[in-house]
Amino acid sequence: MSSISVTNLHKTYKLGKVPVPVLRGASLEVESGEWVAILGHSGSGKSTLLHLLGGLDKPNEGEIAYDGKALSSMSSSQMNVFRREHVGFVFQFYHLVPELTVLENTLLGAMIRLGRFGYMKEAGQLKEAAAQLLGNAGLSHRLNHKPAQLSGGERQRVAIARALINNPPVLLADEPTGNLDQKTGNELLDVFESMRGDTQRTIVMVTHDQKVADRADRVIEMADGLVRTVQPTGLRTQKNPA
Ligand code: ADP
Ligand code: MG
Repeated sequence: MSSISVTNLHKTYKLGKVPVPVLRGASLEVESGEWVAILGHSGSGKSTLLHLLGGLDKPNEGEIAYDGKALSSMSSSQMNVFRREHVGFVFQFYHLVPELTVLENTLLGAMIRLGRFGYMKEAGQLKEAAAQLLGNAGLSHRLNHKPAQLSGGERQRVAIARALINNPPVLLADEPTGNLDQKTGNELLDVFESMRGDTQRTIVMVTHDQKVADRADRVIEMADGLVRTVQPTGLRTQKNPA
């Protein structure tokens, strides 16, 4: 459970000496438990925004706060903890480790969070949790397969399970269906939907595809480095009454 507040975010990259302004004062609010899609054309700054939300990069100006706590107020070690425990990432191209099995890939996030000895102490429970997540994603029969033996849709399901192994309150997804055909993409979004469960997990999903965006509770459109709210907040309760 976590709300997100983004205020007046600016990010400018430099290409040599030429500044490339990407975000020019983007602001948005995401309610705890909401599934928000950020829709925009290629190059509109969606990935940049997502990286800033996940603390992978820093803005030039502006603020991101989770439940009122500003990322800029965190020390670098607090930031590491935040990234490990608070957010899960899903990327367009899966980023699975080819040498590891499906189960091992899923456990990777827990190994990083707990360290080697911490992980070993809890390995039994964690393996069960990973198998359960993979089962929920329809991959029970694939636990000991390597990524190369899986379809794109299956790989992305593993990436979702990996993102959720630490049970983060926030899931950040960058074009999660961008490499999948429409049917497989829709099935993957079904997995997103089911993974929300009753955990009240907040999901921010970036996409250039209106149809994909429409699966979320609310669509926020980006253009010219600014965000424009297309639908009002609070639709989730109307769309998915408890
Ligand atoms: P989107 O995900 O919406 O396609 P991005 O956030 O990836 O957009 O990129 C927005 C713009 O910023 C693009 O013009 C891209 O070339 C530029 N950009 C992204 N990352 C960098 C970087 N590290 N250095 C320089 N320019 C970048
Ligand atoms: Mg992108």
